[in-house]
Amino acid sequence: MKEETKKCVNCQKNFTIEEEDFNFYEKIKVPPPTWCPECRLIRRLAWRNEHSLFKRPNGTPGSTGTHISIYNPEEKITTYDKEFWWSDKWEPLDYGRDYDFSKPFFQQFKELLERVPHIAFFDSKSINARFCNFTVELKNCYLITAAWRCEDSMYGNRLYECKFTHDSYICFHTEYCYENVYCHGSNKLFFSRECDGCIDSYFLYDCRNCSDCLLCTNLRNKKYCIANIQYTREEYLKKKQELVLNTRDGIEEARKKFEEMYRNAFHKHLQLINTNNVVGDHVYNSRNSSHIFDFHDGAENSKFVHWGNDGLKDSYDVGPGCGDESELNYEGISTGVKNYKAILGTTIWYSQNVWYSSMVSNSHDCFGCVEMDKKQYCILNKQYTKEEYENLIPKIVQHMMDMPYVDKKGRKYGHGEFFPPEISPFAYNETVAQDYFPITKKEAEEKGFSWREYRGGEYQTTIKGKDLPQTIAEVTDSILNEVIECEITKKPFKILEQELSFYRRFDLPLPPIHPDERHNRRLKLRNPMILRKRMCFFGDKEVDTTYLPVEEGGPEKVVCTEHYNKEVY
Ligand SMILES: [Zn+2]
Ligand SMILES: [Zn+2]
Repeated sequence: MKEETKKCVNCQKNFTIEEEDFNFYEKIKVPPPTWCPECRLIRRLAWRNEHSLFKRPNGTPGSTGTHISIYNPEEKITTYDKEFWWSDKWEPLDYGRDYDFSKPFFQQFKELLERVPHIAFFDSKSINARFCNFTVELKNCYLITAAWRCEDSMYGNRLYECKFTHDSYICFHTEYCYENVYCHGSNKLFFSRECDGCIDSYFLYDCRNCSDCLLCTNLRNKKYCIANIQYTREEYLKKKQELVLNTRDGIEEARKKFEEMYRNAFHKHLQLINTNNVVGDHVYNSRNSSHIFDFHDGAENSKFVHWGNDGLKDSYDVGPGCGDESELNYEGISTGVKNYKAILGTTIWYSQNVWYSSMVSNSHDCFGCVEMDKKQYCILNKQYTKEEYENLIPKIVQHMMDMPYVDKKGRKYGHGEFFPPEISPFAYNETVAQDYFPITKKEAEEKGFSWREYRGGEYQTTIKGKDLPQTIAEVTDSILNEVIECEITKKPFKILEQELSFYRRFDLPLPPIHPDERHNRRLKLRNPMILRKRMCFFGDKEVDTTYLPVEEGGPEKVVCTEHYNKEVY
């Protein structure tokens, strides 16, 4: 089919479906989308709670009391500890039902979601990983979310193969790092953004292969620089001491100066490294893909992609959490672990030909299934033979078209549509929809999303964030018993032993701010996933960029690739 302009049934804005898109939909046998790409992304995000945690009754057989989970206690579901969930001590098929042709599919799916016990955290093959969610093969981690193969790390979001990396966001292969955003292959790098191969440095932006540098931007292969000025080793060490980066005041002072330096630095319009025919931002070693953001290595012929790595072929509308040797995936979140045809689903791992399912792993040929491992030919958690399965699927697909689910806003969900937000077990503000497309409670209600305020347990704080000692040298082990009041949100938080020894090792002051607020602060350091046109700072050509226009607070010196190479290299 030729290119076609459609009106999004959700936001009413026009969007274009291109010829290549039609070919893709035809290949996987789904009707073309009726929602625009941005509305589709938000709809998926509203199903993905990466880091909101709750205390709720522990439903694991033999357990009493409570446990921590990603599900709000208001959700009338049962949650199992992940160790029990992965064991063969329970049977998800016990919760299966016959397909009911008198009810819409999504109604039946919602009922199944409410019946089946849920894993407390989405985690696969991690060891000693506490409160880690959407994680695969972690070791000794605490509150790491959306991450692959990290070790000895804490309070991070979207990390890949990092070690001893604390409080970081979208980092790859970093070690002994703290408070970084979009950094790679770095060691002992702190409070930095968009750096690659940097060592023993603080507050760097867009630097490569630098060591022993402080407060620098756009540098390559430098040593002993401060504020982009070259010093001798002795001068550098003396000046470093004067900056007192081991005190909270010193860090705050440097943070302000760094913000100003960032605003005056050169910014490449898009971060595309070793890509061919790619339009997106922060994409590495990929080709023939567009509208792709935060993807490392091996995306090919894919479109509308967000956060993933390591091989993604012929896939549309995937992520957060995609790739890891996956192919022919469509409309999925967390479908990024070795899947072939994970279509319209959430958290599908190591599986093939799984449709409309949630938390399914090591399975093939399943439709509308929830919370199962190592199954095949199941529909709504009921076992069929291969022949029965293949006979029934076309009838269900037809039924979904004949009797679509209608939500309370009157939007119809037939075959090919992702799950309606109103049957999500998460409220909008519990999911990463609120991280990437923040709205108010009122707006959420207008748009048909749910919203929940959660009041955690009452903790008596014992010390205010602002009263914490200036340096880590002044902190004794008794801090482990204190409940700190966040300087900004007043939320209580604690310092853990693993964390304390990290701060001590690198002479870093204690953070006076709650981990959630630290995450929010890092989140503000990224650009929105929206491509806009802008004139290169040097006025030679118009470029695609994710930087906000200057009027909306974006930096001034956004430049085309040619000018970036000329000015920075
Ligand atoms: Zn729309
Ligand atoms: Zn230019």
